[in-house]
Amino acid sequence: MSALVLRDALVLDGLGGTPAAREIWISEGWIVAPGSVPEAETESLGGRVVAPGLIDAHVHFCLDGGEDPVASYKAADAETLASRMAENARRTLEAGITTVRDLGSPTAAITALRAAIASRKILGPRLMVSGLPITIPNGHDSFFGGGLRGVGAVRGAVQDRARHKVDVIKVIVTRGGSSPGTDPRGFQFSDEEMEALVEEAQLARLPIAANAHGDLEIQQCITVGIDTIEHGSYASEESLAEMASRDIALVPTLSSAVRIREVKPYPEKRMIDIMERWQERLKAVRMAVEAEVHLVAGTDAGTAYTPHGLVAQEIKALAECGVPSNLALAAAWREAAAALGRPDIGTLAPGQRADLIVLAGDPLHDLGVLGAPLAVMKSGRWVRPLAS
Ligand SMILES: [Zn+2]
Repeated sequence: MSALVLRDALVLDGLGGTPAAREIWISEGWIVAPGSVPEAETESLGGRVVAPGLIDAHVHFCLDGGEDPVASYKAADAETLASRMAENARRTLEAGITTVRDLGSPTAAITALRAAIASRKILGPRLMVSGLPITIPNGHDSFFGGGLRGVGAVRGAVQDRARHKVDVIKVIVTRGGSSPGTDPRGFQFSDEEMEALVEEAQLARLPIAANAHGDLEIQQCITVGIDTIEHGSYASEESLAEMASRDIALVPTLSSAVRIREVKPYPEKRMIDIMERWQERLKAVRMAVEAEVHLVAGTDAGTAYTPHGLVAQEIKALAECGVPSNLALAAAWREAAAALGRPDIGTLAPGQRADLIVLAGDPLHDLGVLGAPLAVMKSGRWVRPLAS
């Protein structure tokens, strides 16, 4: 791969400033200091805005994002599932999402996809994976199988995922989740089980993402030392202040409700529950901004009415909640990179991976341009080049 200089570009580097006319020098998949490679091809971007590749910190590649993803997951054989996952990965990358964290897919299938993408057999975003979520029997996400109880079983589950070389542990802390008619709050695991899970994950040097809605469960997560809170619907001001002071990020996953609120596919009672919870989530996000919690963009893509490749919609939803557009963008760039433990992505500067998108305008002024990138590059290679 020869070196490349992108010139005539307005670079929005993701470090907090506005777009500036600058060249981007790329060698071996990395951004390098201008002038540091002797021979390089040049390419003009015609004065367009270049920004870091987007990051989606919460997806499920094994789920199709249709009306009933659990039913279609259960009906799929291994081959169908593998091709569905590959297709979701391709669609995601082509939308300008160059890194994704999958927080719940079968462990062997998702680690195989990660390897296939890394060796460029399959087109997809850089993938960080949890494998199967850790949950209780008949608990939320137990349709994946493998529900368990007890300190020993919890330790075994973390060890099993560590053996598969996952990047993160996913634990379901809140009972009920989105099951119709149930209160989404209530503990799944005891404090002893949660402490064992954290200890075992620390031994394996793995961070933990926790699915938590209710404030008591969020407090349990804070106390034991979870790294990211997924959803956080009923987070209190006190919990958010604690999360801010301990650098625990919040991934509000607003996208999963955007389409459902438009389509209204469920019976009235369930829709009322969903709308009530939506209001709580908006409140939580607004309080999180006030408390200066690290906000991270995650779509929960794959779940009902939540297609893959739409992190731009999540950024827009965050902005609609009152998150300033620079912070809404940072949620899919440097804040997401930090939450994923990846300092090499999320900004455009020498020493960073050459993951970038070319946009029709400045997203600080119009977040809409994120939904239709003109070109996408991952690790220094055009996934979609700029049409001439
Ligand atoms: Zn999820």
